[in-house]
Amino acid sequence: MEFGWRDEDADFRSQLKEFVTDELPERWSDLIPGEEPASDFILGFCRKLGDKGWLTPHWPVEYGGAAGSPWQFIILGEELWSAGEPRGSQYMNVNWIGPAIINAGTPEQRDYHLGRISRGDVFWCQGFSEAEAGTDLANMRTSAVRDGEEYIINGEKLWTSYAGEAEFCFVLARTDPESTGNEGISIFLVPTDTPGFAIEPIPSVLDIHEFNRLTFTNVRVPAATRLGPENSGWKVVREALSHERIGGPRYARAALVTGRLRRIADERGWLDRDGIKTRLAEAEASCEAAKLLVYQAIHARSCGRSENLEVSLARVAIVRCERVVADLALQMFEDESIERGSMGNSQLKTSMIAGLGGGSVEVQLNMIARSLLGAVGR
Ligand SMILES: Cc1cc2nc3c(=O)[nH]c(=O)nc-3n(C[C@H](O)[C@H](O)[C@H](O)COP(=O)(O)OP(=O)(O)OC[C@H]3O[C@@H](n4cnc5c(N)ncnc54)[C@H](O)[C@@H]3O)c2cc1C
Repeated sequence: MEFGWRDEDADFRSQLKEFVTDELPERWSDLIPGEEPASDFILGFCRKLGDKGWLTPHWPVEYGGAAGSPWQFIILGEELWSAGEPRGSQYMNVNWIGPAIINAGTPEQRDYHLGRISRGDVFWCQGFSEAEAGTDLANMRTSAVRDGEEYIINGEKLWTSYAGEAEFCFVLARTDPESTGNEGISIFLVPTDTPGFAIEPIPSVLDIHEFNRLTFTNVRVPAATRLGPENSGWKVVREALSHERIGGPRYARAALVTGRLRRIADERGWLDRDGIKTRLAEAEASCEAAKLLVYQAIHARSCGRSENLEVSLARVAIVRCERVVADLALQMFEDESIERGSMGNSQLKTSMIAGLGGGSVEVQLNMIARSLLGAVGR
């Protein structure tokens, strides 16, 4: 692939870099994306980005974007991700919740939600996974039953990231009780302060990430909160997930960590120890490979082509580069890596999150096999 940035994209990146340098306190460069998911600082930072049209530069103008190219979406992600992700959990709104509302929302839903997202005013969370429905999301049981102009939602969601700070939840629920699999599922845009909606934090070894259990007990929502046609939520979700899978350019931060590891190895005279030089090169190459595969997916998107295969390949490469960098950090720092906050410890947890959050990497391998080889899993 021959690759060069267009002038407007290169300008966008350099202005963004300058903005990040001016606006972000020094301590952010040591934060792991997600470590500070929601705060007054994040709201202030995102509002400043929103004022410049830089929170959603790739969205259409009428929805609060600047009609920029899909490349600006990835430039934004790369710059902010490697700076500790100062959008906090708002990355979800920008990457896939907003686009899902653009695709499937009513004019009222678009008017209300997209402006708030593009101005940086609101945190959302994602209510998909359940106890028996993670990889096999189509196994979900949470139900929504129509009652006049309302739906009544009952059920439980697990592993919901950053729900404690969220004002809305993007909820999947089964609206056809007779249905199985991907059929009969609808999406609801549910305010988290609706009576019957309970949030309970789940402690986890991934202490850099906040998980929650959501319980829905006779949660009544207006029918107007349903996104898209009844029983047809799956199509909207599939597209949203494709945006989610490459929405966090983790390779940008992994490359930054690799650069730090190289400097430390050099300073401490470790480059000739235990193949560290080779493993550093392997880590650098993995980050570069992940970046190029993401660029291929963005290229497919910008040409209006199906991007499913490219997205799966890119996601696997992203997880691999996180893991290669984690292995290297663990090897270099050995016992020090046990300490919370150390580079080895943090990178290990980051790589664990990468392999499961947004769907497990093994499932992406299945999808690649199906796409390239045909019959796997049938
Ligand atoms: C950091 C993080 C953040 C998350 N945030 C959210 C959130 O905000 N909202 C939300 O709804 N969910 C969230 N999740 C949940 C996440 O989507 C699920 O963990 C994921 O889909 C896997 O489901 P599971 O945990 O039930 O594992 P399982 O589906 O039980 O899978 C367990 C293991 O088996 C493997 N496996 C399962 N089926 C197959 C198969 N067919 N072929 C090969 N291997 C297979 C998987 O790859 C995995 O390694 C988050 C998870 C993490 C780790």
